[in-house]
Amino acid sequence: MINLELSKPLQDQKAMMQGVAAQLLRPISRKYDQQEHAVPEELKVLDRRPRPSQKPPAAKDGEAKKERAEKPPKKKPEGVVNGSNMSTCVTVEEMCWGDVGLMLSLPGAGLGNAAISAVATPEQKARFGSYYAAMAITEPASGSDSASIGATARLEGDEWVLNGEKIFVTAGGRCDAVVVWATLDKSKGKAAIKSFVVPKGTPGMEVAKLEHKLGIRASDTATIMLTDCRIPKDNVLGSAEVQEGDKRAAFGKVMQTFDNTRPTVAAMAIGCSRAALERTIELYKAEGIEVDFDKPLWEMSALEAELVRMEADWEGARLLVLRAAWMADNGEPNSMEASMAKAKAGRVGNAITLRCVELCGALGYGQDELIEKWARDSKILDIFEGTQQIQQLIVARRQLNLSSDQLK
Ligand SMILES: Cc1cc2nc3c(=O)[nH]c(=O)nc-3n(C[C@H](O)[C@H](O)[C@H](O)COP(=O)(O)OP(=O)(O)OC[C@H]3O[C@@H](n4cnc5c(N)ncnc54)[C@H](O)[C@@H]3O)c2cc1C
Repeated sequence: MINLELSKPLQDQKAMMQGVAAQLLRPISRKYDQQEHAVPEELKVLDRRPRPSQKPPAAKDGEAKKERAEKPPKKKPEGVVNGSNMSTCVTVEEMCWGDVGLMLSLPGAGLGNAAISAVATPEQKARFGSYYAAMAITEPASGSDSASIGATARLEGDEWVLNGEKIFVTAGGRCDAVVVWATLDKSKGKAAIKSFVVPKGTPGMEVAKLEHKLGIRASDTATIMLTDCRIPKDNVLGSAEVQEGDKRAAFGKVMQTFDNTRPTVAAMAIGCSRAALERTIELYKAEGIEVDFDKPLWEMSALEAELVRMEADWEGARLLVLRAAWMADNGEPNSMEASMAKAKAGRVGNAITLRCVELCGALGYGQDELIEKWARDSKILDIFEGTQQIQQLIVARRQLNLSSDQLK
């Protein structure tokens, strides 16, 4: 049965991450908001990637295939599990209470890492697991509709040759590798879209530009050009076969990553908005205005009632995040719940942070406080990994049992 109480180890982890966020991220939050594109040196203490000499050797030809064939089917875990998804959401919420942009800059924790852990074979995990991996899906002519991707991959002997332009790649400048989505044959639609791991330094892959942004300025966002970029045949994640008869299943494998990453992005929104709400309550308290959450709503001031409503909305979003993460950890299909969590947390996160700017007046709008920054940072959390509108579309499709071709 579902139980959203955090286990003791997760509560301890949460407390530890809160300490890291308060002591390491908050003090440098404004600095890297102002110094866009500067690499946050202070975060190096959190870099847990093995040194190059510790990296496992690359697999020999055919080894990956053999390993795939030998691998027993994944068993559903017995009993209730608080696994890696819940742990990631707890960590991410605390770190984003500290700073979203800095959290996205932590070496080793890119969105591409989620793709690798969701889809890679054990052999690939051994080869790529230590990379700090970014995720490159978006293109100038392909955003929300990720099935319209134009970047191409063609097999030449033992190598894939990649061509195309990827934009808005988070950590694209600083990562060790990029997980690139490309099509093997555009005429075959979704079934032909695959993801490929391209290590940095591969000839033909170039960081062409870094964006200047509204928020999360500590995080780098890159344009990446692929020009006849050659990578080994074994760098494709999942099967390279184009299963035309089963388009949904093939694309679904690639999309599976989102079932894990959407609750994570929703947890970012929860962390960031909690920071704004807490600080707003503190600032009012410092002025002698204390919110009594136990008072009946009709006896509250307009301000108190507003804060109570925001808290309730925030708690609802948090519970949706925990449910989606719990389902992922316990082997239950969670696409709809992941989208519900992302839609609610993204919207609530934007609304709370912006309302806190308003409620705090000059303090909310000025740079002496971080409240205006949290409002800017939170906006992206309702956009990337699928916008608010796209999440609602996914929920509607699932509720109505309609395919993406039937409900666009
Ligand atoms: C800072 C930043 C970091 C990013 N990081 C990454 C990354 O690491 N990797 C990556 O691949 N991408 C990344 N992105 C890209 C992001 O995922 C896309 O911006 C997002 O998916 C939306 O795509 P788009 O910008 O092309 O907007 P569009 O798809 O053009 O959408 C524009 C508007 O139309 C709405 N819309 C679109 N289709 C529908 C529909 N069918 N029904 C209703 N409304 C619709 C959208 O909700 C949106 O409001 C990042 C973007 C930013 C800004």
